[in-house]
Amino acid sequence: MQKERSAREARRLSVKGIVQGVGFRPFVYQLATTLNLKGQVANTSNGVTIILEGSLDGIELFLQRLATQSPPLAHITHVDVEPLTPNGYNDFSIHQSREYAQGLTLISPDVSICDDCKNELFDPGDRRHGYPFTNCTNCGPRYTIIDDIPYDRPKTSMRHFRMCPECQAEYDDPFNRRFHAQPNACPVCGPQVALYDREQKQVETNNPIETTISLLKAGHIVAVKGLGGFHLVVDAENETAVKTLRQRKHREEKPLAVMSGDIESIRQFALLGQENKALLQSRQRPIVLLEKKDNYALARGVSPKNQTVGVMLPYTPLHYLLVKNHFTALVMTSGNLSEEPIAIDNTDAFDRLRDIADYFLIHDRDIYLRSDDSVIRMVDNKQQFLRRSRGYVPVPIFLKSRLKPILACGAELKNTVCLTREDHAFLSQHIGDLENLTTYDFFEMTIAHLKRILSIEPEIIAHDMHPDYLSTRYAMEQSRMVRIDVQHHHAHIVSCMAENHVEEPVIGLSFDGTGYGEDGSLWGGEVLITRLDRFERAAHLTRIPMPGGAAAIKEPWRMAISYLHRAYGKNLFNRNLPFLRELDESKLNIIVEMIEKDINCPRTSSLGRFFDGIAAMLGIRSHVAFEGQAAMELEMMAEASTGNLYEYAWSSEDKIQIDPCPIITGVVMDIEKGVTPSVISGKFHATLMAMFADLCRVIKKETGISQVALSGGCFQNAILLSGLSRSLRDLDFHVLTHEKVPANDGGIALGQAVIADAIVRRAG
Ligand code: ZN
Ligand code: ZN
Ligand code: FE
Repeated sequence: MQKERSAREARRLSVKGIVQGVGFRPFVYQLATTLNLKGQVANTSNGVTIILEGSLDGIELFLQRLATQSPPLAHITHVDVEPLTPNGYNDFSIHQSREYAQGLTLISPDVSICDDCKNELFDPGDRRHGYPFTNCTNCGPRYTIIDDIPYDRPKTSMRHFRMCPECQAEYDDPFNRRFHAQPNACPVCGPQVALYDREQKQVETNNPIETTISLLKAGHIVAVKGLGGFHLVVDAENETAVKTLRQRKHREEKPLAVMSGDIESIRQFALLGQENKALLQSRQRPIVLLEKKDNYALARGVSPKNQTVGVMLPYTPLHYLLVKNHFTALVMTSGNLSEEPIAIDNTDAFDRLRDIADYFLIHDRDIYLRSDDSVIRMVDNKQQFLRRSRGYVPVPIFLKSRLKPILACGAELKNTVCLTREDHAFLSQHIGDLENLTTYDFFEMTIAHLKRILSIEPEIIAHDMHPDYLSTRYAMEQSRMVRIDVQHHHAHIVSCMAENHVEEPVIGLSFDGTGYGEDGSLWGGEVLITRLDRFERAAHLTRIPMPGGAAAIKEPWRMAISYLHRAYGKNLFNRNLPFLRELDESKLNIIVEMIEKDINCPRTSSLGRFFDGIAAMLGIRSHVAFEGQAAMELEMMAEASTGNLYEYAWSSEDKIQIDPCPIITGVVMDIEKGVTPSVISGKFHATLMAMFADLCRVIKKETGISQVALSGGCFQNAILLSGLSRSLRDLDFHVLTHEKVPANDGGIALGQAVIADAIVRRAG
């Protein structure tokens, strides 16, 4: 028999996810009151518990709205509903006892300033007018200022600031936007900015921000302390200032990110569609790669030889005050020397950035954990992370299955680490290239910090197979954990499977620059039949000498010679290729001799190196300033293919080996015929798509597997990613790509963790 709808019912709701410190209880209070429900809400050790009493209709509406209208920063992962016997509550109350326990609650990432706070910032009548640390429960710093759990003011870098009576009243009022906003502050009681010159002498001024603006207008370089670290800042329209910054930072060609005050300013130099606009304005405020406009208004030096420019909107009040209404854009590049981690400490910044910055705009709210800006590019309306960091970390990647507690140490370049707890994988912020001691210190610190604030004590440690990676060495030193080594390209594919909740076998196309193979050679153009706990190498690019090893990464012309030698032997000297004539003859002869005598020529099956070699043959560049630069420029210049393809071939004895020679001879003949590099690049891309789609078709016939996962740094190439996905779908494949973690080595740690768990479970 159906219950009468008006009878008094009671339910207990247990809500899990990011539900503390985000204005969740006031939201619940208001929702319950609106629906005439009685009961109470309280924080518990693993979320929020709500008791509701009232009509069934009211309770159902409550559940609907809980799912759809919760505060911007809340992220609900589970709601359990349990029937109760009504207790006769006569009102709804916020239960004040705050019993947190083992940190099973999720910690919010740092969040860009909300509209309400922004309005106060620019309102001359508001007590926070022009105050650079304005925040509330819906916005502000979180992850970067937390030292320990529970997330409470004394456990953050705000502990040094005692709230004034007005701020305290806001903090205590459940109807105030700042109820329990831990970083709550105002000009009277909160952090302050100060301006210094490079001699560490304070610049006398009543308004350090306005003075900074004039200094930037005059072409100076200012180091600005932000949310996750220092930025080096110059006026993006000032060619000389940009050039000076590059010289002092020893950053020759890598693009510099910019920040603009609003969408209208961005339209002056970049094209942006709806999806890009929404991403720019999202509360994560990542750097978004946008196509440059024809009449590009910024200095050429911002993003030379590149069709795109990385742009973000301000994410702190300080940023708004600096850029909005004052500049079309400011260059905001990380405050570091070339590849070191960004500076976060005032003293450290003075020390390390003294030779780069003319002035320092600092503040006295400490940053406990550095966090670089995230970088995203939209491809086919989907977001592709190039770097997943500030704004996203530490929101977990939600997995299909529960994992044992694991620490995965990541790879060497673009390192991130991953900690797991149940079905949550916490991928760390960008740590960087683990090639120097400063970065290694940051790596160790991040692991310790994450373990503490997430309350995870890992039992298993996963690491790359490469014996010399610093991350591998770290893992070797951890004697108390079960150690699992994971092949690099296997980890790439499983990271893609994991974020897509796929556990059945897939055909994995794992394409990147370098990774240590099971046979000790360098892999990177791998087709792997992949399961979570193991893989089988079904196909790969033919292994080619890398003359000089790592030197061949910095000098793609060496790879070009290696491929030409493969195709033509000594006859390569008879080819009519402009790039050959520009090479130093004696160097050229040495490289050929190295190849023929096999001196310092490790073998590689890398697709990234193939891109490099083709780029060098086309005369795009013989040397690179950063890894992948030649391949990136090859992508940038590609003209839409006309459907013409180069021939391709593979041999299939034991494993399928893809022979690069027909493609190389095709490219060489086109160069000799005077076909433009743009057309050749387009045709080269189209050939790779057709070839790999064809190869997958053959493997599907043999194995019956109809899912393909695309991962590895080469899939940062939008033409390859989008074109190959399309070709595969046309062949009825289900195609898995990345949307939550980077395809590059920044996503590897996730794959390592999932593989380690599968291996340990198989072993029982
Ligand atoms: Zn706010
Ligand atoms: Zn105050
Ligand atoms: Fe890789």
